[in-house]
Amino acid sequence: MERTKEVKIESIDELIAAAKRVRANAYAPYSHFQVGAALLGSDGRIYTGCNVENASYGLSVCAERTAVFQAVSQGLTSFQALALVADSEEPVSPCGACRQILAEFSPEMPVLMVNLKGKIVRSTVEKLLPSSFTFKKCEEEKVK
Ligand SMILES: [Zn+2]
Repeated sequence: MERTKEVKIESIDELIAAAKRVRANAYAPYSHFQVGAALLGSDGRIYTGCNVENASYGLSVCAERTAVFQAVSQGLTSFQALALVADSEEPVSPCGACRQILAEFSPEMPVLMVNLKGKIVRSTVEKLLPSSFTFKKCEEEKVK
């Protein structure tokens, strides 16, 4: 399926609404910082995720990765857009680990970072993580 950067406005609104809804399910008893993520799959379906913390802090997983893993576990590995919602003064952006995970599947994907006040910051995975690690690059290095 061909990737597209154009996403319908209705889809964007729906995507942000889905991220806001799933944010309520965040398991964040330690940070109390709830985050919701919604991915618009190349199949037109929305895959959601929330952050899941753990008493062993390092095991906590971000909302974006939860959404990606949910989609992949259902057989989808190509995405049109990501909406990320948190209750913060400025919209939050994906952490480095999540940027690498997102780049694995859809580097050109638009990323919409949204706060509950409705502020939206738009970017793409490539802009957020230029020169991401790929196995192909690793193989090219070996050839030299
Ligand atoms: Zn993250």
